[in-house]
Amino acid sequence: MSEPTIFEQIVAGDIPARVVYETDTTIAFLDANPLAPGHTLVVPKEAHERLRDLPDEAAADLWAAVDELTPRVEDAVDADALTVGVNDGAAAGQEVPHVHVHLVPRFDGDGGGPIHGVAGGRPDLSDEELDDIAGRIEG
Ligand code: 5GP
Repeated sequence: MSEPTIFEQIVAGDIPARVVYETDTTIAFLDANPLAPGHTLVVPKEAHERLRDLPDEAAADLWAAVDELTPRVEDAVDADALTVGVNDGAAAGQEVPHVHVHLVPRFDGDGGGPIHGVAGGRPDLSDEELDDIAGRIEG
């Protein structure tokens, strides 16, 4: 058995958190090191590391919670917008190996950027490469 993740410990009530939403399958709480006031994490209670690992029902419940919480978080801190993001895997910056969706309130002039800034340099892809990638994603 692997060590329970910090989020499993929050779900179990072993570590305190400012919980803002909870159902049988999903929980949301304020991030302990917020990028903005209201920065919220939406987390499936069952521990899975990657989005690809989530059972369908847990995934549906997770995204339903995101849908419900986005306006609530934005309105609670009178934000102008919201960045919704998942660091899905270590190479993408995931530090806690338990699926979670970040809801980060954004404000006019907050100095942050769009999600286009999260990857490295933009690749120069040919039409053939784009067609090939699209085909592989389509399956
Ligand atoms: P990641 O880099 O894995 O996408 O983000 C993990 C997030 O979890 C970080 O934003 C971090 O601040 C937050 N976090 C880590 N430990 C705790 C904790 O014990 N409580 C809460 N509420 N958030 C945490």
